[in-house]
Amino acid sequence: MAQLGGTPVLIMREGTERQRGRDAMQNNIAAAIVIAEAVRTSLGPMGMDKMLVDQFGDVVITNDGATILKEIDVQHPAAKMMVEVSKTQDSEVGDGTTTSVILAGELLKRAKKLLEQKIHPTVITEGFRKAADKAVEILYAISINSGIDDEEGLKNAAMTCMSSKIVSESKVKLAQICMDAIKAVAEKSEDGKWTADIEKVQIQKKEGDSIDDTSLIKGIILDKEVVSPGMPKSVSDAKILLLQSAIEIEKTEFDAKLQITSPEQIQQFLDEEEHMLRTMAEKVANSGAKVVICQKGIDDMAQHFLTKAGIMAVRRVKKSDIEKLAKATGGTIFTNLDDISNDKLGWAGLVEERKIMNDSWIFIEKCKDPKSVVILIRGGTELVIDEVERAIHDALCVVRDVVEDQKLVGGGGAPEIETAIQLRKYASTLGGREQLAVEIFADSLDIIPKTLAENAGLDQIDTLMKLRAAHQQGHKFAGTDLDTGDVVNDMAKIGVVEPTVVKVQAIKSSTEATSMILRIDDVIASAKSAGMPPGMPPGGMPPGMGGMGGMGGMGGMGGLPPGMM
Ligand code: ADP
Ligand code: MG
Repeated sequence: MAQLGGTPVLIMREGTERQRGRDAMQNNIAAAIVIAEAVRTSLGPMGMDKMLVDQFGDVVITNDGATILKEIDVQHPAAKMMVEVSKTQDSEVGDGTTTSVILAGELLKRAKKLLEQKIHPTVITEGFRKAADKAVEILYAISINSGIDDEEGLKNAAMTCMSSKIVSESKVKLAQICMDAIKAVAEKSEDGKWTADIEKVQIQKKEGDSIDDTSLIKGIILDKEVVSPGMPKSVSDAKILLLQSAIEIEKTEFDAKLQITSPEQIQQFLDEEEHMLRTMAEKVANSGAKVVICQKGIDDMAQHFLTKAGIMAVRRVKKSDIEKLAKATGGTIFTNLDDISNDKLGWAGLVEERKIMNDSWIFIEKCKDPKSVVILIRGGTELVIDEVERAIHDALCVVRDVVEDQKLVGGGGAPEIETAIQLRKYASTLGGREQLAVEIFADSLDIIPKTLAENAGLDQIDTLMKLRAAHQQGHKFAGTDLDTGDVVNDMAKIGVVEPTVVKVQAIKSSTEATSMILRIDDVIASAKSAGMPPGMPPGGMPPGMGGMGGMGGMGGMGGLPPGMM
């Protein structure tokens, strides 16, 4: 709203909520801190899990920061930005979601103190930016080299990532699977850089057995069975026909009436049909295919002929699966039986129907393209399987991160402590208010080792002092071994390692969100279309009065809707 020569001019729609200056900032900071507090107890291998129940009563049990925040319905705009932090972290590197949110919360908490000392937000955000850049530099400087050939490093990183999950008991086996999967799909570009696309690793889930029965299949799984019991259930060295059309006689689009005048005519009809289907089956057999994977149906009669020819057939396979098969087996997808040629068939070392629990699935393995792999997740219940899937997703991301970035740091709070120490030294070279901001950035990093210790029931201050002492003595990877509770001088030596990019991204995403929140000094929220916030008269105000009345409502910003805090 603005004043023009004493006349109130209405700029914003009636019912718009507005909050400015300190109020706005404090409110935002408080909301963001609440979010960080919510995930705090789940950090690290000793962290607790959360059970989340949505409005339909569906339950999720998890320890994954991104999942927790995705599931809870956050209303406050600044709190939503914190949720974004975890999402960014998840999509960029796949791990470190809890860390990034806790870090952002701590940065804001400490920034608040500086604000109270009348330090301008821009000075703080500028200091944070400098500190973050320096922190990234430090992290890379202390990193150790790794990469696709460093199997131990890859496996350890995957295990560290999974040790904080429900699946930690099975982490050795799962880490091996994740590493093998990423190694299978990794590609080297011309400039010698490795990339791995985790989308290429497919995940299939099946309840039953235990987590340890989870396996890696080099190939593709179809949730289908062989169409007729007489067909072979296992074909090795298999030529595969991928077919988009049906092996049926096409029904006409319109109603045709036929006048049949004699029984012979019926027989003739049936014979004709049989002949057509036999020809179709022959075409398949003549191509040399031993397996037919069909997107549409296969007529019973055709099944009979295919069975006689010793061909395995699968019908009504999803288009997307057929496309994947085309890639994996190197076959062409045919739309017409007349076009089939032997050299365009796909190939797989083994096509086999296997029973898993009560369902039969088709496994197409040892494909031409070894880049297609499936992780078949097993586990007692759906809740467990879902958490295994999340853990595997994180571990796949972590292995990919190391393959692509080729750098590792020790875990257990080591990189945070080391970075903090070096940042404080850097801060002293700056001077002025910026120094203050860089110092509180360094102090904020301590929250990670502190929280890890707290969640494991250790004394925070005590642990922090021990860690600092070890680092001062030059042990850059000194951290807390949470299996024993002891401070050890080299976390990498005991196999607790993390990708450097995960730490780097946590710093980047938390600093970004923090700066964004700190720069906001005006929150303008439009009126909700359904239902006015409390304190607002229903039905609005008479025109002309609206401006003034709205102003009055504005002054008492206590009238934020309940969801806003
Ligand atoms: P995030 O969502 O941030 O990845 P996690 O709950 O996965 O949070 O915890 C990750 C933290 O736990 C990292 O700081 C990592 O170094 C630490 N950590 C994992 N395993 C161990 C271990 N065995 N000993 C000490 N720290 C560990
Ligand atoms: Mg993690």
